[in-house]
Amino acid sequence: MRLSDLKENERGVIVRIGGHGAFKKRISEMGFVKGQEILVVRNAPLKDPIEYRVMGYDVSLRRKEAANIKVVEDAGPEVIKQDFQFEAGIPFAKKSTQKIIKIALVGNPNSGKTTLFNYASGANEHVGNYAGVTIGTKTAHFNYNGYRLEITDLPGTYSLSAYSPEEKFVREHLVSSDPDVVLNIIDASNLERNLFLTTQIIDLEIETVIGLNMYDEFEHSGSKLDYQELGKMMGIPFVPTVASRGIGLNELLEKIIEVYEGKCQTSRKVRINYNLDLELKIRDLQDVLQDYDCEFENLGSRYVAIKLIEDDAEVVETVAKTDQGLDLILEAKKSRVFIEETLTEDIQSLFIDARYGFIDGALKRTLIQNGQKKRHRLEVDDILTHKIWGYPIFLFIMWLIFQATFVVGQYPMDWIDTGVGFLGNLIDGLMSDGPLKSLFINGIISGVGGVIVFLPNILILFFSISFLEDTGYMARAAFLMDKLMQKMGLQGKSFIPMIMGFGCNVPAIMATRTLENRNHRLLTMLINPFMSCSARLPVYILIIGAIFPDNRGSILFAIYSLGILLAIGVSMILNKVMIKTDNVPFVMELPPYRRPTFKASIMHMWFKAVQYLKKMGGIILLASIIIWALGHYPINVEESRNYDELFAQVNAEYKIKSSSAITIDQQTKLYNELQVKTDSIQILKLSEHQEKSYIGQIGKFIEPVMRPLGFDWKMSVALLTGIAAKEVVISTMSVLYQAEPNADENSQTLMKNLKDQVYTSGPEIGEKVFTPLASLAFLVFVLIYFPCVAVVAAIKNESGEWKWAIFSIVLTTTMAWVMALAVYQIGSIFV
Ligand code: GDP
Ligand code: MG
Repeated sequence: MRLSDLKENERGVIVRIGGHGAFKKRISEMGFVKGQEILVVRNAPLKDPIEYRVMGYDVSLRRKEAANIKVVEDAGPEVIKQDFQFEAGIPFAKKSTQKIIKIALVGNPNSGKTTLFNYASGANEHVGNYAGVTIGTKTAHFNYNGYRLEITDLPGTYSLSAYSPEEKFVREHLVSSDPDVVLNIIDASNLERNLFLTTQIIDLEIETVIGLNMYDEFEHSGSKLDYQELGKMMGIPFVPTVASRGIGLNELLEKIIEVYEGKCQTSRKVRINYNLDLELKIRDLQDVLQDYDCEFENLGSRYVAIKLIEDDAEVVETVAKTDQGLDLILEAKKSRVFIEETLTEDIQSLFIDARYGFIDGALKRTLIQNGQKKRHRLEVDDILTHKIWGYPIFLFIMWLIFQATFVVGQYPMDWIDTGVGFLGNLIDGLMSDGPLKSLFINGIISGVGGVIVFLPNILILFFSISFLEDTGYMARAAFLMDKLMQKMGLQGKSFIPMIMGFGCNVPAIMATRTLENRNHRLLTMLINPFMSCSARLPVYILIIGAIFPDNRGSILFAIYSLGILLAIGVSMILNKVMIKTDNVPFVMELPPYRRPTFKASIMHMWFKAVQYLKKMGGIILLASIIIWALGHYPINVEESRNYDELFAQVNAEYKIKSSSAITIDQQTKLYNELQVKTDSIQILKLSEHQEKSYIGQIGKFIEPVMRPLGFDWKMSVALLTGIAAKEVVISTMSVLYQAEPNADENSQTLMKNLKDQVYTSGPEIGEKVFTPLASLAFLVFVLIYFPCVAVVAAIKNESGEWKWAIFSIVLTTTMAWVMALAVYQIGSIFV
């Protein structure tokens, strides 16, 4: 029987795990091992994924993955795990007498590392209640009992097998930055799985102290643990802690110092005894290593031998570089083949089973499990992931976040906008005219302004996300949405960035950080620009208002829907051809609900804000300056009219007329006329300069490419300037189509001008520019093409590679062109 065949509330005992290597390994490390009893907690409303309880915690697995696991209803006689052998171990060699202790904080996700880190250091790193919040590291230092302690908070991992970027990162850190003491935080209510990582740390032979965290929850459950005895067996001292209340922290720090000083009797190099065949081979290989007198960074020979036999990619690579490397690898391979053949089991499973065997043996002697409910569990889940209510509740929460982010966020956005405008005016008054002033106002201030206006959105969005994460709801939301997202090659958590994209793609792309898997993250990021952001809305409103006044609603709806359909389509295709996610097992822990701390959410929000300003500021500023320069230069264009003369003429006329005007009314009227006239000359001048500037030249240059879509050069230029930000399309059009730029009351004039615009040269002379088809093509183009520079910067930063930012530009722009062409040309056949 397969695990996926079990019904809700049924139990099964694992007898075999199939599937490919990475999946098998992952799932075994999460506790799905032979002989383990699994309970089906519930199906997601769409029957997929399924929530299982294993080793006393909840985890979500996709149905097709669960189908790889064979179970039986009754284990029959207990599967005999490997006999537990207890070795006294040897003390660590004292390394240093320095008064600085480097501490590496490691542990499973959600074990409370970050909480502890914050408490100990007084720093405030984000605390999250689901896998993968801490990406990268945070280091804090402080003085304690005459020592300087340097603590590094590492990403949460279930193992050190270098399966995910986080695991790789943690292992790298432990191996190459040579911490003095490893502080392993484990969740006391979840010992079996948490200790798996500990067994791997033991192999690394570094002094370790265990923070037995969540001790409050553990005591509450009524179970008992002889942690001192357990510590002796593992050669690691245990200190019970309640990180969220700072309990046990001093004891923990003191223990670290004791271990560092070599005064702790418990701290010893212990060997995890694998089964006999494995042990013999490990020791053989160790002998060979010693014969060759090989040194591999700081790695112990036992560790290298184990990893070589396990065929661990990283260690094999390191060893391969050395003189006798290839011999060693060959030797290891022989051992592996021999073991796999004699034991008829693959090497990974053998090692994983052996580790769990060790844990099982150690816990049997020290843990008295309270047979009843292992953990106090709120039954909120029955409502939040309910078959019927789950979705409306989820959508309501999404709606609420969206409203908060973009509607409430609008107010501070407007303030910032006003502030930026004020600053512009201030500089306008202070500086004399010239390129420098224009650079400041139109380049730098509007560029920087363009960065900081998003800040309120980002703050609110990240506050909300962090709140959802801390409570544990995020994992449930992902659980609900997974089935739908899976069809697009994505996973449940991709949904949140997609929805947020309707507001602004920039925070949405930053939100993809909540996805653990890189390929899921990339896909979610790349399709985000198809979610039509709010900056594109004014452009739609303008064009639709001018050309399709009778069908506003339906056309707007069609544009948004087109975006969603394209996102789905593109995701499916990319997933098929480039960014494969099928091999990624979606194994997600569903942590118990916990009360979030307000302070943590605020700090997280702040952290994001700083990060956003630092990372985005540079690129966006640079791009704004470039676009500004392209529009501003060359300054001395050949003017078709002498504008100065025109201005002088109008002024002279005004002087003559006003001298004969008698009443105030007449004078005011004349003055107003003067204003209108000079404004229109100003606009003529501006639009001629636009036309002859580099960007105008580029616009003219690309016009032949845009002609088949039904666009004239002005539309092309507007689209070009829209690269800076989509709203800019409107202000460019205002200049080019000679309405007052940036004035709301003039949008009526602009609409009229658009409607009346005719070709003044070429074969279509006299024909309307904005035909319904050309306008539709334009709308489609605006929807799809080049995400704005801020989005490109976000994609670059979040993916870590320019490659993907450029890919996104090319993909969207090509698609925009093809789709607009299709609309215009196919439409032309019918109209
Ligand atoms: P990390 O993923 O290991 O960094 O874990 P976090 O520090 O983000 O903590 C995960 C959750 O556990 C948060 O909601 C914390 O408030 C909570 N938490 C941390 N330590 C304790 C503890 O000792 N007892 C209880 N009850 N909750 C804790
Ligand atoms: Mg953390």
